[in-house]
Amino acid sequence: MLRFKVVDEAFNRKALAVEIPAERPESYFGKYVFDRKKMVEYLPTEAYEALTNAIDKKQSLPREVADAVADGMKRWAIDNGARHYTHWFHPLTDGTAEKHDAFVVLDGQGGVMEEFSGKLLVQQEPDASSFPNGGIRNTFEARGYSAWDISSPAFIMGHTLCIPTIFISYTGESLDYKTPLLRAINAVDKAATRVARYFSPEVKQVVSYLGWEQEYFLVDEALYSARPDLMLTGRTLMGHESAKNQQLEDHYFGAIPSRVEAFMLDLEIECHKLGIPAKTRHNEVAPNQFELAPIFEETNLANDHNLLLMGLMSEVARRHNFRVLLHEKPFSGINGSGKHNNWSLGTDTGRMLFAPGKTADDNLQFLTFIANVMAAVHKHDALLKASIMSATNAHRLGGNEAPPAIISIFMGSRLSRVLDNIESLAESDLENLASKEGMKVGLTQIPEILLDNTDRNRTSPFAFTGNRFEFRAVGSSANCASAMIALNAAVAAQLQEFASRVDERVSSGETLKGAILTEIKQLIREHRCIVFDGNGYSDQWKAEAARRGLDCETCAPKIFDAYLKPESIEMFALTGVFSKVELQARNEVKWEMYTKKIQIEARVLGDLAINHVIPVATRYQSVLLDNLCKIKSLFPADKCRKISAEDMAAIERISEHIAIIRAEVTAMINARKAANRISDEREKALAYHDTVLPAMQIIRDKIDELELDVDDEMWPLPKYRELLFIR
Ligand code: ADP
Ligand code: MG
Repeated sequence: MLRFKVVDEAFNRKALAVEIPAERPESYFGKYVFDRKKMVEYLPTEAYEALTNAIDKKQSLPREVADAVADGMKRWAIDNGARHYTHWFHPLTDGTAEKHDAFVVLDGQGGVMEEFSGKLLVQQEPDASSFPNGGIRNTFEARGYSAWDISSPAFIMGHTLCIPTIFISYTGESLDYKTPLLRAINAVDKAATRVARYFSPEVKQVVSYLGWEQEYFLVDEALYSARPDLMLTGRTLMGHESAKNQQLEDHYFGAIPSRVEAFMLDLEIECHKLGIPAKTRHNEVAPNQFELAPIFEETNLANDHNLLLMGLMSEVARRHNFRVLLHEKPFSGINGSGKHNNWSLGTDTGRMLFAPGKTADDNLQFLTFIANVMAAVHKHDALLKASIMSATNAHRLGGNEAPPAIISIFMGSRLSRVLDNIESLAESDLENLASKEGMKVGLTQIPEILLDNTDRNRTSPFAFTGNRFEFRAVGSSANCASAMIALNAAVAAQLQEFASRVDERVSSGETLKGAILTEIKQLIREHRCIVFDGNGYSDQWKAEAARRGLDCETCAPKIFDAYLKPESIEMFALTGVFSKVELQARNEVKWEMYTKKIQIEARVLGDLAINHVIPVATRYQSVLLDNLCKIKSLFPADKCRKISAEDMAAIERISEHIAIIRAEVTAMINARKAANRISDEREKALAYHDTVLPAMQIIRDKIDELELDVDDEMWPLPKYRELLFIR
């Protein structure tokens, strides 16, 4: 009866009162961030100037000021209740890593005092042997060390001062997400600045921006605790669809339940204190599914904030007796969760490069950047898919509610037409684009065209949305860095190539605008086939995409291969984002993670099937058999056959299901054993994909059918209809 006890408990909960600060957000926003205001207050002038100068110029912090910065940071942290400090980094696992040290040191007189030195601030050697490294440290016999990323501000979480750091091996290979992300951001800055200067020579820097939209599910803690699969794997490995789920479309943008609203408010206040500019919240499509989106920020900072948010969500949820599910597909049969990555580039002079401008010249620049993104996405479509792929996101991709497993770009029919029209633009028209010719091509009207271009194709994995691209295929539990590394690097390489071609033309006597126009036309001709505005879920598209030569691979372990294709290795080397050794090591980690995730799920499913479901099904079967015997003893044979026909069928069904489940669990265990003997990580991951996953699916289907036959009072696990509707 555990199930009914927890369901009762869950359904009787009321919304908790949230402690709302008396002040408005502007007075507590960034309270726990060591931002410039705090730097002014806590650092000596020279240290402040040296630090902000290093941040602005993307240089490293001079050693001689590190002690002063560390001391100021410590005093600020202590004033705000901190007792410990930690280097906070993003290893190749889900989430972040931290090892806390207290500020205390012995004072030599039997007591302690609190100290923090520049050396400890700038660099540390966490014992890194247990983080995934894909063999890098074994090969190079090197330890890992973490080094302060001064471009991300330090912050206080709980009672700990957190210093955002990169994590690399002593031989310089990255062992984390942040290092290559910073490299990719620098690469795109360099390349995009070069191109933006064709239009505005005063541009000094191009910033990559990210605005993520975090989708998630909430489940009551009591129900969660009664589901070992949710606790151990983050998703339900079984559970028949609820009669009502999302078919009435009544959840999306619906009224937020008061318990959930209390949680959201609490979370937003915590976000704001940590400088995360949380802004938008709403119900998502599936029951119990919600979204939080902040105001977009520079990509590295935005990603730190997303990782912080994911940690914060779990913590705040527990205060409200909820558990947050960040898994991409916690429930089958209803929508999964993504994390749309809204991405754009902007200059230090305030121009957003994917936004149309006021003049025709501005719009030539706009089309230059759009065409280069098209080319980058087309050249690296398989890689971009690999960048968002994982064992968990694999459940979402290719389903009928999520981005398809083929990367294409949605441009909207009107922008597509502008791109096509540019073919007819002659070099002689370039002198005055605002004239008749510019009008003909549509260059002057682009802003108006886009303004009323409101069609939003939800089936596209990568959509142009007026002033940015929305990479929708990213999974809800992912570190956005993975997608942002691939995208920024691919676009950087493309822009570099574009600029070299343009420069070559100019040096052989062509006019700059003429050269740009010729190259844009060429890009559009070559890469037009990545644009697809139709229904990305349809079978016609799958056939059409294959015909266009787009990558249609659906098997996750094979999708990872894209990182090791010669063109990817070359692109990452050219941009300085990854060396070949790093790529190989990272792929080892990807395959290993894939295997481990499925291994854990398979173990949990086996346990639930054999120890929870089958015993209950057998007990219910006995009840039916007992009843049948009694009927037989009381009624004449012909009557008995009539009234017990349905019972007989049910008994048979249950027996069959039990037999199949037992056989498949054995088959699944054997498949696992065979796979575990394979030493090559890629082959092992493939074996898990090809042999373990299919057995899991059969087991699940049979258990879900049993759920319909077995007495509701006996069923051991909370059902979908109970898990999915918070009251
Ligand atoms: P949607 O209608 O797509 O659900 P949301 O309002 O939920 O939109 O989220 C849009 C996200 O895009 C926000 O995080 C917002 O800050 C971000 N965004 C808006 N403009 C840009 C831009 N130019 N570059 C990057 N992100 C942006
Ligand atoms: Mg949204």
